[in-house]
Amino acid sequence: MTSQSVDTTRPAVHLRIGAERIATGSGGVHEHVNPVDGTVDAQIPLAGSAEVDRAVRTAHDAFAEWRRTRPAERRRMLTKLADLLEANAEELGRLGTLDNGTPLSATAGLVASSIEWTRYYAGWADKLASEVTGSFAADGEFSYTLGQPYGVIGVIITWNGPLISLAMKIPAALAAGNTVVVKPSELTPFTGELFADLVEQAGIPAGVVNVLPGAPEAGAALVEHPLVKKVTFTGGPDTARKILHSCADLMKPSVLELGGKSANIVFADADLDQACSHGTMWSIGVLSGQGCALPTRMLVQDSIYEEVVGRVKAITGLIAVGDPLDAGTVSGPVVNEVALHRILGMIERAQSDGARLVTGGHRIEGALADGFFIEPTVFADVDPQSELAQKEVFGPVLAITPFATEQEAIDIANASEYGLSGYIQTNDLRRAHRVAEELTTGEVLINGATNLGVNRPFGGIGLSGLGKEGGRQGIEEFLRFKSIAIA
Ligand code: NAD
Repeated sequence: MTSQSVDTTRPAVHLRIGAERIATGSGGVHEHVNPVDGTVDAQIPLAGSAEVDRAVRTAHDAFAEWRRTRPAERRRMLTKLADLLEANAEELGRLGTLDNGTPLSATAGLVASSIEWTRYYAGWADKLASEVTGSFAADGEFSYTLGQPYGVIGVIITWNGPLISLAMKIPAALAAGNTVVVKPSELTPFTGELFADLVEQAGIPAGVVNVLPGAPEAGAALVEHPLVKKVTFTGGPDTARKILHSCADLMKPSVLELGGKSANIVFADADLDQACSHGTMWSIGVLSGQGCALPTRMLVQDSIYEEVVGRVKAITGLIAVGDPLDAGTVSGPVVNEVALHRILGMIERAQSDGARLVTGGHRIEGALADGFFIEPTVFADVDPQSELAQKEVFGPVLAITPFATEQEAIDIANASEYGLSGYIQTNDLRRAHRVAEELTTGEVLINGATNLGVNRPFGGIGLSGLGKEGGRQGIEEFLRFKSIAIA
C-alpha cells in the first residue's frame, strides 16, 4: 500500500570511497524492507573490512590537504553544501520517508533542521580562534592554545534520523579540518547516497567524506582501525559499550549519543492545551516514538491527573496513522518487524506490571496489516520502577505517572539510568528554573521549547552517552587542543 502521488523510486546505493561509486561490497547484501507493507524494495551493498580499510586510508590521504585548506574555503564549500541540501529538500524528505517510514510531514522538518546544522557549522570554519593563556608581562612566558583537527573521524549513525544524524556530525567535523568515513545504518541507506552526491557537487574534495553502507561488522572495523583517530556514534547503549571497549585498546576518544527515557513534568499551573498537545504529539505522534530525546514519561501533578489523562487520550485519537507518503499522515510505521515485536512485548508486560491501558496497545490491522504499524498507545498509573518507566521503548508508547509535590516529581524524573532530555510544563518561572537546575539531564526544555537547536550543546549523561553535538562544544569535540608556550 503506497501513496499514488509520490514517486517511490529508490536510488541505487553504492559504497562511496573517494570519487568511486562501488556497486558491490565484501560485506554482502542487505535486503531493505519497506516498513509500510513488509516487502523487500531494494538490495543494499554492504561494506566489509576491506572497503573500510580502503575508505579510511583514502580519508587519511585526503586529510593532508583538507587540514591545510583555508578555513574560509572550507566555509564556502560547506555553505554550498547547505545550499544544495536546501535545493534538494523535497527529494531528501522523500528519501527519508522511503528509508524508514517517517511521514513526509516529519521528514520535511528534519531536512530543514539539517540545513540549519550544516549552515551553522559552515560559519564556524573560519571563526575558530585560539585562546591566549599567558603573557610575557604577567607570566614571563607567552602561551596560547591551538585547536587542531584529529585526522580521520569514524562516523556511525543509526536509522531513525539518517539525514539529521549526518548533519549533526559531518559539517562540524569538516569545518574543524577533519575528514570522515561514515557508516550509516544498513536499514536506512538511501539518504546517505544523495548526501554523498551533494558533498561532491559542493566541491568538497574526493576522499574528505566517504560513505559506506554496512552492517555492525563494518562499524566495528571502522572503530578498530588505527588511522581512525576519533569516533562519533549515534545509537544504543549496548553498541556504545562495545565501541568504548574497542576504543580503550587504542586510547581513542569517542562521542556517544545514545538513548533516553525523558521525563515531562506537568505541573498543575501549566498551560494544559500546550502541555497535553506537545506531550502527546512528541511522544507517540510525529516519529511513532522513535526518537532519542522524546518526552516518553509524562509525570502529572495529582490535582490535574485525570484531566490530563483524558486530554491525552482525546489527542491520541486524532493522530492520523497511515502511509507515510500521504501528506495527511502524522504517524507512520515502526522501522521493522523486530522493532514491532519488541514494542508489542513491552506493551504486554506493562499490562502485567499493573499499568492502566488508556488507549491503543495493538498492531494495526485492516489496510495496514502487512506493515509495521502500532496504535499510538497510552498507559496511566505507570509504576516509576517498572520496565515501561525505566526502559526506552523506541515506539509509540507513552507512560503517565502521578506525583504530588515538586520534590517528588524531581525524584521520579531523576530515578533513571538515562539522562538525555528533561521537559517541564509550568507557568511559574521560578519553579521552571529551580526544577531545571535539579534535573540530571543534558538539556531541559520548558513549555514546548524546541529540540535540536543547533546553537545549543546536545548530549546526555549516564546511559544517554558522552560528549556534545551543537554549539561551540559540538565543534570542539572535533578539535584537540595543544598548549604552546615561549620563554
Ligand atoms: P544500534 O546501536 O544497534 O546501531 C547503531 C549503529 O551502530 C548502526 O549503524 C549499527 O550498524 C552500528 N553498530 C552495531 N553494532 C556495532 C558495533 N559492534 N560496532 C560499531 N558499530 C556497530 O542502535 P539502533 O538500535 O539502531 O538505534 C536506536 C538507538 O539509537 C536508541 O537507543 C536511540 O535512543 C538512539 N539514538 C540516539 C540519538 C541521540 O542523538 N542521542 C539519536 C537517535 C537515536
